[in-house]
Amino acid sequence: MNQLLKHAVKAFYMLSFSFVMTSCAKDIEIDDCQAYEWKYDGKEGVNSWSVCFSECAGSKQSPLDIKDATVQAGLSPLQFSFKESPVSIFYNGHTLEQEWVPGSKLTIGTNTFELAQFHFHTRSEHTISGKRYPMEIHFVHKQSTSSAIAVVGVMVETGAENAMIKLLSTDLPTEIDEEYKSNLPVILSGLMPANKGYFYYPGSLTTPPCSEVVSWYVLKNPIQASSKQISAIQQIISENNRPAQPLSGRTIVSTKD
Ligand SMILES: [Zn+2]
Repeated sequence: MNQLLKHAVKAFYMLSFSFVMTSCAKDIEIDDCQAYEWKYDGKEGVNSWSVCFSECAGSKQSPLDIKDATVQAGLSPLQFSFKESPVSIFYNGHTLEQEWVPGSKLTIGTNTFELAQFHFHTRSEHTISGKRYPMEIHFVHKQSTSSAIAVVGVMVETGAENAMIKLLSTDLPTEIDEEYKSNLPVILSGLMPANKGYFYYPGSLTTPPCSEVVSWYVLKNPIQASSKQISAIQQIISENNRPAQPLSGRTIVSTKD
C-alpha cells in the first residue's frame, strides 16, 4: 500500500471511530428534550445532559478533582450567621433536600448570601487530590439582587454518629416529592467542621441546567457521620455524583489552613 493510501485508510478508520464514540456518548436526540428527564446513568445520564442543557458542556463546570491549589494569603473568611430551622426535608428524585427558613447569612468579604437549602450527594462529587469521600453536603446560598450562587461543600467521612443527621433522618422521605417535617431545630454548626478553611474556584451547578454562576467553597476539613447514617441516605438517593469536569485553565485557590 502506498503512503497516501495508508493515510487515507487510517483517516477513514479514525473518522468512523470518532463517529461511533460520539453516538455512544449522546444517545438521545435533541427532539427528545421536551420529555427529557436527566439522570446519572443510562440513556439520560451525565453524558447526554449537554444535548438538552448546552451549559453542561461549558468550560467552567463542576465538580472538580481539587488538586494543585494555590495557597493565597488574605482570602476572606466565610462568616456564617445562621438561624436554626425546623426539619423540612424532601426527596426530589435526585437528592434529599432540607429547605431553610429565610434569614441565615453567609458573608464573604463584601458579598452577602442567604442560605436557601442544603442537600446530599453520595458519594462525594468533589474529590481532593483524587480522594473521594462517602458523602458531600452542599449548602446553597443565593443573592436576592443577582443570579450569583455560593455553595459551601462539606465532605463527610465515616466515623462517629452525627447528631444533626440523626435529627434529619428520623423518617427520611423515600418517594419523589415526599416530605418529612418536624419542629425539631436543625443547627448548622453540627454539620460543619470547626475549621472553615476552604478551596475556592469559579464553577457551576453540578446538575442540569449546569449554570456557570457558582462560587465554590469546598471546606478542607470533613465532618463525620456513621456508616449506618451514610448508607441510609445512599439507599434513597443512590449514586448521585457527577464525575469530575475539566479544569479548563481555572485556578483553584485555598486558605492556608
Ligand atoms: Zn449538590
